[in-house]
Amino acid sequence: MGKPSIEELREQTRGAIITPDDEGYDEARRVHNGMFDRRPKVVVRAEQVSDVVAAVRFARERSLAIAIRGGGHSAPGFGTVDGGLVIDLSPMRTIRVDPKTRTARAGPGANWGDFNAATHAFGLATTGGIVSTTGIAGLTLGGGIGYLSRKYGLTCDNLISADVVTADGEILVASEDSNPDLFWALRGGGGNFGVVTSFEYQLHPVDMVYAGPIFYEVEHARALFELYREFIQDAPEEFGGFPAWHIAPPLPFIPEERHGDTFVAAIVHWAGPLEEAEKVLKPFRDVAPIVAEHVGPLPYPALNGAFDALFPKGIRSYWKGNFAKELPDEAIDVHLRHGPKVPTASATMHLYPINGACHRVAPTETAFAYREASFAPVFMAAWSDPAEDAERIRWVRDYYQATAPFSLAGGYVNFMADDDHGKVQTNYRQNYDRLAEVKRAYDPDNVFHLNQNIVPMPRTGRGLRPRAAGSKPTEVRARREPRPSRRREV
Ligand SMILES: Cc1cc2nc3c(=O)[nH]c(=O)nc-3n(C[C@H](O)[C@H](O)[C@H](O)COP(=O)(O)OP(=O)(O)OC[C@H]3O[C@@H](n4cnc5c(N)ncnc54)[C@H](O)[C@@H]3O)c2cc1C
Repeated sequence: MGKPSIEELREQTRGAIITPDDEGYDEARRVHNGMFDRRPKVVVRAEQVSDVVAAVRFARERSLAIAIRGGGHSAPGFGTVDGGLVIDLSPMRTIRVDPKTRTARAGPGANWGDFNAATHAFGLATTGGIVSTTGIAGLTLGGGIGYLSRKYGLTCDNLISADVVTADGEILVASEDSNPDLFWALRGGGGNFGVVTSFEYQLHPVDMVYAGPIFYEVEHARALFELYREFIQDAPEEFGGFPAWHIAPPLPFIPEERHGDTFVAAIVHWAGPLEEAEKVLKPFRDVAPIVAEHVGPLPYPALNGAFDALFPKGIRSYWKGNFAKELPDEAIDVHLRHGPKVPTASATMHLYPINGACHRVAPTETAFAYREASFAPVFMAAWSDPAEDAERIRWVRDYYQATAPFSLAGGYVNFMADDDHGKVQTNYRQNYDRLAEVKRAYDPDNVFHLNQNIVPMPRTGRGLRPRAAGSKPTEVRARREPRPSRRREV
């Protein structure tokens, strides 16, 4: 039998199959980060699980690298690939909420805007990203940090089960009771283990919140960081805000003459009783004179869309992230040195808090390794003009590197850039070997390698060589392992 043709793939799938000869190819190959202009051989717009199975089998029979795309927000552009096959899950975005059990089942192509709108109708939510266009899939699989993390844990802590298409094209359920090793790895281990075709989440009663940005003059940044350092240690867990640097966008609540000026900001978010909000947030009102603010009661999904306009699809971007346990004076000095040089309105440092509920999960309970960290800073810049690449990237790198002496060795995998592949083991630390074993059990040939790649644990001394993301498969092949017994379920 010869290799299957594109026509045969078309016959096997309900979703569109888009090749370079087809209309819409240029749009179909694009991901969020405009720095990755790649040309896949074929894009499969999966509409159902069987499309995913057909796509995985087709790619394997044709030895095509597979890029899995949920929301397409990956900073290193993992949702596309030169000369390979993209499984674009965006058509699979149905969300069903069960208000009785306070759970939701969501398709892997949904983004946080879709998800929050669906759950908000029931006065429910779970921890999700702060930009509405980010995909639930990649964010959940890498961990998931958001306004609700301190109260309800990381997004992956709220994952109850996932349906997964493996590298063999098998369909499995991963949960505490079914393939628990796979379920463990999915909660932080990224897209290494298969294509997730459905996510089941725990929801919580979150309806109206009290939130928004407060802008202060840069000269008050030290006072803000010092306040935040103390406040966040034992702040009520319903508080989920963070300090940030921002060049003021032209928004009506900011005096027009200050548009384009640089500020230090507190993005405050209170998901507790609204009548308590002003009391809890008072320290942020008192810490320094306020230049502009837009804080008040609003539906939970509203703030989730507030930053969207700063990060349109196709904008170029570069990211770094690390973790920190504490925020010593010297670390604050670094923030004060680099933050005010923030180069554009679409660049920032957000110092996300990940204590509270995130600390109540043990470091080996899920693949997310750094449960003792209290802060997950992200350093990122986005811009449009390629001529600005070097300057924007330099700001991110310099700032990130200057914080290194006050940070833990690893960082959040979802904040890693294209050049962070060498950090994968450090980012998973004590969990890396177990992840490599699970990888060997479910994807021994490293079919799913366009991600923060976990290399399958070699059976003996000779095994798979680490493969850089985007590179061709290595010749070295691990011998096929007998798998741990797994129930086959649909
Ligand atoms: C503007 C912006 C804001 C962000 N804000 C936050 C935030 O608030 N909190 C936070 O934690 N992170 C945030 N992130 C980072 C975000 O978590 C990662 O970029 C994440 O990977 C995005 O997921 P995605 O599905 O959109 O991306 P994609 O590029 O589609 O996928 C990312 C990775 O996940 C894999 N993957 C995707 N879908 C599947 C699937 N169904 N099965 C298996 N593997 C899959 C892909 O192969 C890839 O390796 C933000 C990113 C951006 C660009």
